[in-house]
Amino acid sequence: MSDLDPEEFRRLGYQLVDWVAGYRAGLRELPVRPAVEPGQIRAALPLDLPEDPAPDLGAALTGLLDDVVVPGSLHWQHPRYFGYFPAQASLFSLLGDLASGGLGAQGMLWSTGPAATEVEQVVVDGVARALGLDAAFTFDGGGGGSLQDSASSAALVALLAALHRADPRWREDGVRGDERVYVTAETHSSLAKAVRIAGLGAGALRIVPSWAVFADMVAADRAAGLRPILVCPTVGTTGTGTVDPVAAVCAAADGMWVHVDAAWAGVAAVCPEFRDVLEGVERADSLCTDAHKWFGTAFDASFLWVRDGAALPAALSITPEYLRNSASESGEVVDYRDWQVPLGRRFRALKVWAVLHGMGLAGLRAMIREHVRLAQDLAARVQADPRFVLAAPPSLALVCLRDASGDAATKALLERVNATGRAFLTHTVVDGHYAIRVAVGSLTTTQDDLDALWQILSR
Ligand SMILES: *Cc1c(COP(=O)(O)O)cnc(C)c1O
Repeated sequence: MSDLDPEEFRRLGYQLVDWVAGYRAGLRELPVRPAVEPGQIRAALPLDLPEDPAPDLGAALTGLLDDVVVPGSLHWQHPRYFGYFPAQASLFSLLGDLASGGLGAQGMLWSTGPAATEVEQVVVDGVARALGLDAAFTFDGGGGGSLQDSASSAALVALLAALHRADPRWREDGVRGDERVYVTAETHSSLAKAVRIAGLGAGALRIVPSWAVFADMVAADRAAGLRPILVCPTVGTTGTGTVDPVAAVCAAADGMWVHVDAAWAGVAAVCPEFRDVLEGVERADSLCTDAHKWFGTAFDASFLWVRDGAALPAALSITPEYLRNSASESGEVVDYRDWQVPLGRRFRALKVWAVLHGMGLAGLRAMIREHVRLAQDLAARVQADPRFVLAAPPSLALVCLRDASGDAATKALLERVNATGRAFLTHTVVDGHYAIRVAVGSLTTTQDDLDALWQILSR
């Protein structure tokens, strides 16, 4: 038995495309959150794997999707999904993903994927320009970008580059234990995870209580013989969307690596009126923003730009004999394996390209503007209703709110909304108090969906 015959793939592929189209078209009618108990899905599936191929793979697969997967899924593409942050998987991006899978190429080296490498270079350079980033972050400007699998991986490789820049002997001797990494209490947990993976130990993580004291903390740590290596300001914190003062952080960074985590909010800079979120970034060493949150692209695709195009290869490159090739040795190509943890890599740029060319920058701007407008509309209703309060100033398309009567009522409200299945929200804690987060960002969310959410919330 070899692979599916291409003609048979064509037939099944059309059938599956029909299924996806039908699923997306019917999403609005589904409950956003599934009514399943832990273990229920496992128990419903046979443990024995088939000895023989299914007589009708198309029917078997769509049967699994309809009977098990759809009723057992939180529907992240649902128009009334307002949880966490959006995870936009536009149908545009699905086309690019299909093409990427169809090619099945590994773009670890330029020589193993010349087009995968150079299309990605063009896409990341183009998006850098569209966001108004300093030319230093583009390949022609001496830096460069890449598409990582996630902002978490971007943080890890930025930390490794920072370790290397602080002391290149790190590659031979490992970490010393005197490294320090500066974050705030609102920094995403991926930074703490990166510190752990890099072997620095949690003690290396310094929580800056306020950026006003950052410079003093660094000075005190240096005086104590410690080595500050990286600071991570956030543009759009996960809890409340707060934007850290990047310019001031860069000014006080005193030679350490500045990695800006703009995972959710950075893409808003595609709109000139929101470009100030990236103010000060021109002095940072690296910047990450996810294409897979609010930029139309199916997971996984996270932009990571660095000001020094040699920094990641310096930290990460290891070349066994079997990867040697004349293109790499010419020094004229980018080998993206040296920009990431794994060796192999998918052709992620195709799905971003499909979004950029399918929506255009104008389409992306219109989408982001509409989400911000809807969030402002919600925030205004919250402010006008004495039963509610804003838990934090609204930030772009994120609104944090509370029931004015307290934490228990706020928690009960969230549970009540989610139990309806008609909308999905998540929570955070702001200043020690429970708060409901409403992150507007589904590609199909309309004013009607927001009105429906408000009706459920305020009933
Ligand atoms: C979502 C988020 C992350 C993690 O994103 P992944 O791409 O899933 O790793 C990191 N930082 C911030 C600020 C985020 O909002």
